[in-house]
Amino acid sequence: MAIRRKTLIRRSRVEWTDYNANIYKGCAHNCKYCYARLMTKRFEPNPFDWRDVKMVENAVELARRDIRDLRPGRIMFCSMTDPYQPIEAETRLARKVLEVLLDSPFHVLILTKSLLVTRDYDLIRRRNVEVGFTITSLEDIPFWEPYAPGNTKRIEALKKAHSMGIETFVSIEPWIPEITHPRSIIEKLKDSVDRFIIGSMQYCDVSRSFYIRQLPDLISWLKENKINHYLKKELKSCLPRSSQVLVPVSRELISLAQEPSWALCLRYARNKH
Ligand code: SF4
Repeated sequence: MAIRRKTLIRRSRVEWTDYNANIYKGCAHNCKYCYARLMTKRFEPNPFDWRDVKMVENAVELARRDIRDLRPGRIMFCSMTDPYQPIEAETRLARKVLEVLLDSPFHVLILTKSLLVTRDYDLIRRRNVEVGFTITSLEDIPFWEPYAPGNTKRIEALKKAHSMGIETFVSIEPWIPEITHPRSIIEKLKDSVDRFIIGSMQYCDVSRSFYIRQLPDLISWLKENKINHYLKKELKSCLPRSSQVLVPVSRELISLAQEPSWALCLRYARNKH
């Protein structure tokens, strides 16, 4: 099925981009921790199946119009879905929209978990674009990402992009307690990646105290090794100086902080799905 929209390129609240462009609604990957599903369902008046993906059928014409009307900047492709849905193999919508965006002064940040992006490496090679993969572990984690290509396959696709001269980034987000080890991921991938973006999992009730404990060592290691990285705001606020600011802590948060992190993850997964 398809939907129509009034605009495609919109101002983004994601701090490392200016705009986003979402060419599908829903996502077949259905990751258990998905923030986009959480937000979309909160603001959607009618219930819908997140895995029943709909393409934005007028995406190409909207992209052409929007880049004419907007001041050039960075476009995250996509922020509320994965641009390379399984149906992309037939629709070729991502490729058609990219053809428009790559012919513009905008800088495109593709973020995906799908291997289908490799189909378009010929198009995006040495252009105004970066290819980013979400990497949550060095191993596959089917419990959390049941329908997405596993981390190991994504890493292969990432290395292939780098070997073709494509600029690459890795989004380490969510940082899942006891599953995601940012330092190991960065150590293993740093020769194939131009920059790393690190986020947290606080949006699904993982306690700040977990990140407060983990961050100092990670930050000094990143600095020592001159790793090009961007720490998202919610993590920056967990750094020692900020953590001394007193904020009201709810009873629920106190009890969450006392739970082992793996138990939190499981509880989150059960509650949300
Ligand atoms: S790939 Fe991204 S948008 Fe799709 S379900 Fe997973 S987290 Fe959500």
